Amino acid sequence: MPPIDNVPLLDLRREPELDLALEEAFRRVLRSGHYILGPEVDALEAECASYLGVSHALGVSSGTDAILLALMALGIGPGDEVLCPTYTFFATAGTIWRLGARPIFVDIDPVTYNCDVRALAGRITSRTRAIMPVHLFGQAADLDPILALAADRGLAVVEDAAQALGSEYKGRRVGGHGAFGCFSFFPSKNLGALGDAGLLTTNDAALAERARILRTHGGKPKYHHQVVGGNFRIDALQAALLRVKLPRLDGYTAARQRNAALYDELLLASGQAARGAGDRPVLLPAVVASRHIYNQYVIRLPEPGHRDRLRAFLKDRGVGTEVYYPVPMHEQACFAELGHRLGDFPHAEAAARQTLALPIFPELRQDEIRHVVGSVLAFFA
Ligand SMILES: *Cc1c(COP(=O)(O)O)cnc(C)c1O
Repeated sequence: MPPIDNVPLLDLRREPELDLALEEAFRRVLRSGHYILGPEVDALEAECASYLGVSHALGVSSGTDAILLALMALGIGPGDEVLCPTYTFFATAGTIWRLGARPIFVDIDPVTYNCDVRALAGRITSRTRAIMPVHLFGQAADLDPILALAADRGLAVVEDAAQALGSEYKGRRVGGHGAFGCFSFFPSKNLGALGDAGLLTTNDAALAERARILRTHGGKPKYHHQVVGGNFRIDALQAALLRVKLPRLDGYTAARQRNAALYDELLLASGQAARGAGDRPVLLPAVVASRHIYNQYVIRLPEPGHRDRLRAFLKDRGVGTEVYYPVPMHEQACFAELGHRLGDFPHAEAAARQTLALPIFPELRQDEIRHVVGSVLAFFA
């Protein structure tokens, strides 16, 4: 084997054996003449509902639209407040804002990077309507205290499960714990479409019906509108393509978990790393929930400047990395009027400076992982 000089963060062309089945699905949709909703979408929804153990699943246009639709179905709008972590992908907060509601940020737990549940209660006001935990990087947020607090205060829980399809909390898949679960099929997620797509889940029949109506402009019957919805539909073509990959999802996840285990093993054996927290230059992901699906494998370099220098060093050795996320929501210019300042959420701010995602995609080879680890250790040597 030639020496490795390039390990991409993500390579979506490493499963060519699937091409024939995907082409077959494309031909099936092409020839059906049915391109919006219909049998492929119905089938994907049923298969996803069964996979997740929820009663209702709706195929939607993206993970972002899944969140937007969830908040719309809950009637969230101007004057309302929704609690969410400040360390997340933009869509979590952007959707709240787009509805005229106010995102109320909370800090994260420095070990799991998920919402600090102890910080939530203090941020609730008479205007709070919902809590939106994010299952960041594929590991479930600590849902029990969140659900208990929400029940006690009469709030809805909307799970941003965009990175967490198949992730479990205490043995139960995420997406069915709160009022709604919101998933993304963005190509880099564990189950990726060949374009944009998402899924909205719920166990509440009335909420499912409301979301279904809002998904097609709010018309029921067609062309008669009690409410204003939008076009939030998944393409029949994406549904058909996703159905080819869904049976392989547990295989993808197992491969990601094996990759993570090899990173853990090699880095821990080097003596340079500790899991979660500790006095080492590299901190590894801590697994606290019952099934971490490793949408991302994110390490932390606590020493000031190390993260950016390591990232540049790895780039020189052909190793692709990414920073998820360099700017927490409370520091975003578009949310300036919320009046936050640097220092408001120190754990999120530290994570934004110190974390780095390494390649973890399912088809990553062992020798590539060894090259990545060798390169990380060379940096510290
Ligand atoms: C990917 C992602 C989304 C948005 O999903 P899209 O399908 O890209 O719209 C929302 N929240 C989180 C946490 C995500 O990672």
